[in-house]
Amino acid sequence: MVRLLLTGARVLAPDALSAPHADLLIEGDSIAAVLPPGTVVDSARPFDASDRLIIPGLVNGHTHSHGGLGKGSGDKWDLAALLTHGGWIGGGRVLQDKWLSTALNAVENLKKGCTAVYDLPVEIPAPTVDGLDAMAEAYAAVGLRAVLAPMVADLTFFQATPGLIEALPEPFRTRAEAMRAAPAQTTIDAIATASRGWSHAGRGIVLGCAPTIPLHGTDAFLRACRKLALDHDLLMQSHVGEARYQMAGGEIRYEGATLLEHMDRLGLVGPWFSVAHGVWLTESDLALLAERGAGLSHNPGANMRLASGIAPVRRAIRAGVTVGIGTDGSSSSDNQNMFEAMRLSAFASRLWEDAEEEDWLGTAETMRLATQGSSKLLGLAGGTIKAGKPADIALLDLTHVNWAPFNDAANQLVWTEDGSAVIDVMVGGAWKLRDRRVLGLDEVKLARDANAAAERLRSVNAETRAWAQEIAPHVACHCRVLARGWTRSKRLLRAE
Ligand SMILES: [Zn+2]
Repeated sequence: MVRLLLTGARVLAPDALSAPHADLLIEGDSIAAVLPPGTVVDSARPFDASDRLIIPGLVNGHTHSHGGLGKGSGDKWDLAALLTHGGWIGGGRVLQDKWLSTALNAVENLKKGCTAVYDLPVEIPAPTVDGLDAMAEAYAAVGLRAVLAPMVADLTFFQATPGLIEALPEPFRTRAEAMRAAPAQTTIDAIATASRGWSHAGRGIVLGCAPTIPLHGTDAFLRACRKLALDHDLLMQSHVGEARYQMAGGEIRYEGATLLEHMDRLGLVGPWFSVAHGVWLTESDLALLAERGAGLSHNPGANMRLASGIAPVRRAIRAGVTVGIGTDGSSSSDNQNMFEAMRLSAFASRLWEDAEEEDWLGTAETMRLATQGSSKLLGLAGGTIKAGKPADIALLDLTHVNWAPFNDAANQLVWTEDGSAVIDVMVGGAWKLRDRRVLGLDEVKLARDANAAAERLRSVNAETRAWAQEIAPHVACHCRVLARGWTRSKRLLRAE
């Protein structure tokens, strides 16, 4: 077994409140000991980590690897607009594009200090065994751990949103009405087949199942997803209560029940399940999540970019919900920077009108959410630097201007650091980033391939894009009217 002794560094304490000098002994894929500086360890290969801050690898609780090729696609888009444009952002892709997009997403996560991601990739029209294998290969090449949970639906966005098709003028209505999602059975069979032949678990890449948005699945489909997950022991994640129009749509479709209550009635909510976003979850939704042992990934970057709102994270924590932090995909928040996600999480927690200081997220707490909290969502044991934990760590250069001077580890990790001081990253005891270079692939070739693919996809998807641009204002108008019928306070009052 390889034994490596990292010497001379500061090591972030498990509570993230301090970062004393310590040496770190790595044995095989795990942390064997955190030792007083200068401890002599026989037969361990030394690694000089002077002027480094060692932190647990950040864990991204929610991303979409198909966004790797789609970054910077939109500007003034809310969620409804993003979903309207989704067809061309992820459309027309061949197998190599799926590998490429995942590799791009994984590289950005790794270079910004992340060691594991909860990924909800979409394949249009439906997940495929080859596609999922290609994505897993991309993760393996870069060296990230991942939950790969295909994002699936059996209803289109137009079918899923109450009143939307009827509200569209012609010729948009006819075309939107004729659109169909892939047959439910095709989707379920593909994930089941992929799961039976899955060969990537030993590399830290596991399958999950992500019914994308509850409204986008028929009850039969949502039940089939749960059965599939149960049969194959898959984690589940879904976008629940991301935007207000969805909460309104849920009350219409589920006769007064919230989106989460409806999912719970179908048996989807349990310790295997996490909500992405949860911006508009009610007090009783949060209590339900906690009671079921389910989690929540807080993704404030996307929530701000898409004008969705701010998730009630402090309320979720107080209710007993496991909370992690995510970036969301690069077609909805456009980068994979967990440092930024932490900073926005802590900032956003202070913007509630009624928030007292005790309601704000502190920096050490935010750091724990982005490591220990997100790890739980992914079913991982990591997130802290302690003996026995997986050796998933990031080294930050303390001579970088972000750390000159070193005043306080947690405050600077959340307030100052932007990923640019990340210099080395280790996953499972093996270096994946050294001196800011990804070891598993050629980044220059990756960029060249990405530009070639993007150029081809722009041409393949041009017509779908033009149509989305024309229809988007009509969609936005309907969803805004729908949203007006639902407010958190109205719902909260009703719940009390
Ligand atoms: Zn998402």
